[in-house]
Amino acid sequence: MNVISINCPQCGARSFVRSSRPLSSTMRELMFQCRVVPCSASWVATLEVSRMLSVGGLPNPHNPTPVSDRPEVERLMEIATLAPCPRSLHNESK
Ligand SMILES: [Zn+2]
Repeated sequence: MNVISINCPQCGARSFVRSSRPLSSTMRELMFQCRVVPCSASWVATLEVSRMLSVGGLPNPHNPTPVSDRPEVERLMEIATLAPCPRSLHNESK
C-alpha cells in the first residue's frame, strides 16, 4: 500500500503523517513527523484537490474544483505511463 509522504525539510529523511484533519471538502491539513529519531522534526502541510482529470460517473454539481482540459489530461497520462511515481512521494507501509 502506498501512503502520502514528503521528505523531512530538515534532514531529508522519510516522514510519516501523524494526524490529519479536514479543512474543507477538497482540502486536508496533514501533520508530518520525520522518521529519524534524533531529528524528529514535525511540520504541517496541506493536501488539496487542485483540478479534476475526470469527473467520474457521479459528478457533483456543487464541486468547485476546475476540470482539466483534454490536452492537459493527455500530457499527464503520457507522463504517468513514461515515469512511475517517485519513491519520495510514495512510501510503502511496513
Ligand atoms: Zn528529519
